[in-house]
Amino acid sequence: MFLPQEIIRAKRDGRSLTKQQIDFFVAGITDNSITESQISAFAMAVFFQGMSADERVALTLAMRDSGDVMDWRGLDLDGPVVDKHSTGGVGDVVSLMLGPIVAACGGYVPMISGRGLGHTGGTLDKFEAIPGYKAKPSNELFQRVVKQVGVAIIGQTGRLAPADSRFYATRDITATVESIPLITASILSKKLAAGLDALVLDVKTGNGAMMTEHQQAIELAQSLVTVANGSGLKTSALLTDMNEVLAYSAGNSIEVHEAIRFLCGHQQAPRLREVTISLAAEMLYRSGLASSVGGARVQAEQALDSGRAAEKFAQMVSALDGPNDLLTAYQKHLPLAPIVRPVLAPRSGYVNTVDTRALGLAVVALGGGRRTSADSLDYGVGLDQVVGCGAKMDEQSPLAMIYARTEEQWQQAAEQLLSSFVIADHKPTERPVIYGQVALD
Ligand code: URA
Repeated sequence: MFLPQEIIRAKRDGRSLTKQQIDFFVAGITDNSITESQISAFAMAVFFQGMSADERVALTLAMRDSGDVMDWRGLDLDGPVVDKHSTGGVGDVVSLMLGPIVAACGGYVPMISGRGLGHTGGTLDKFEAIPGYKAKPSNELFQRVVKQVGVAIIGQTGRLAPADSRFYATRDITATVESIPLITASILSKKLAAGLDALVLDVKTGNGAMMTEHQQAIELAQSLVTVANGSGLKTSALLTDMNEVLAYSAGNSIEVHEAIRFLCGHQQAPRLREVTISLAAEMLYRSGLASSVGGARVQAEQALDSGRAAEKFAQMVSALDGPNDLLTAYQKHLPLAPIVRPVLAPRSGYVNTVDTRALGLAVVALGGGRRTSADSLDYGVGLDQVVGCGAKMDEQSPLAMIYARTEEQWQQAAEQLLSSFVIADHKPTERPVIYGQVALD
C-alpha cells in the first residue's frame, strides 16, 4: 500500500518510480481514489523530472490495463491488424484515405480516433459530420465492420484506457500536456488497448504541430517507438512537416469533401498524397503485407489509383449506417456554410511562411473546433483552396476561400488569415514533407 503524496514527492525529487508505485497511482486515477489535485501535482512532477524508459513502459501498460484490451484473434482474420496515429495538425485528413488504402491491400484497420485538440482537427469530428454514421458503435458492430470491410474508423469508448481520459482532462487544464513521457503513455495506452499487430506513427513538426521544434518531435518519436516496441507492439514513426496546411482545406465537412475527391482521383494535394502513401507503405511493410517499403508503396498507389480504396471507404460508411451514396452525393449530405468568399492576397510575391496554428484557430473561431469540451461544432464552416508555401500570388489571388455561418465570422476569419500569411519577393526554398523515419532497425 502506498500513499499518493509519497509517490508524487519521489517524482518531484527526481527519483525513479517502481512499477508497483506506477500501477498503484494509475489504479487510483481509474477508481477515483486519487484526487484531481494529486493527478495534477503528479503530472507537473513528471513534466519537470521526466521518466526513464522503464517508467514510461510501466505507465503505458498500467494505463492500457485500466480498461478493456481488444483481442482480434477470435475473428480469424486473414491479415494483420494495423493502425496509424498522428500527433495532429491542420488539414490532416490522412486517416480517411489511409485506412481504406491499407484495407484494400489486405490489412485490418480498427482505427480509434480522437476529437480535435486545441487548434488541430480531429478525425472523429470529421466522421461525426457524416449524417447517420455511427462513430460510437457497439463492440460487436465495430468488430464486424473491421472483419467484413477491413477498416472501421470510430471514436474512443469509455472502456478503452479510461485512466487516460481522466489523466488527459487534468493535464489539459494544468499546462502539462507537453510532456514527452505523458504524451507517450497517453497515445500508446490507447493504441495498445486496440490489440494491434503493428503501428505507424505520424509525428508532426512545425508551427501547426503539437511539437513545434524539430528536436522535440524527434525525441517524441524516439520515445514512442522505444516504449511501443518495449511493450510488444511493432512500431515505427515518420516525421512529417506541419508548417502549412497539409490538405487544401481545413474544417470538418469540407475535409470529408476533399478526402472523397482524393479517393476518387479528382483532386489530390501533392503533400497530402506523399504523406498518405508513405504512411500506407510503412504500415504494409511493418505489418508484413509487403517485403520492402518500395513494394509497399506500389501496392498502396495501386489501391488508391484503381479506386479500390474509395470502394472500401464507401463500404465502411455504409456499414456504419452512413449514406450509401456518399461518394457521389457528398455535397448533399455534407452541406457547407452559406457565406463563401475568398480572401485576397494583400500584395504580390510568393507565400513565404504560413502561421498554421493561427489558421487552425481561425477554423475554431468559425465554430469548426471547440474552445471547451462541451462546445458543439458547426461542421459546415472552414477553409478551402488554402495556398501553401512557395505559391505565387498577385493581388487578385485568393489566400483561401472562407466558409462562414455569419458575415461577422467571415470578417473575423479574413482578418486572421491576412495576418497568417507572409508574402515576400523571393520564392522560399522548398521544405520536404517527410523529414525522416524513426525505427528500431
Ligand atoms: N494526444 C493524446 O492522445 N495524448 C496526448 O497526451 C497528446 C496528444
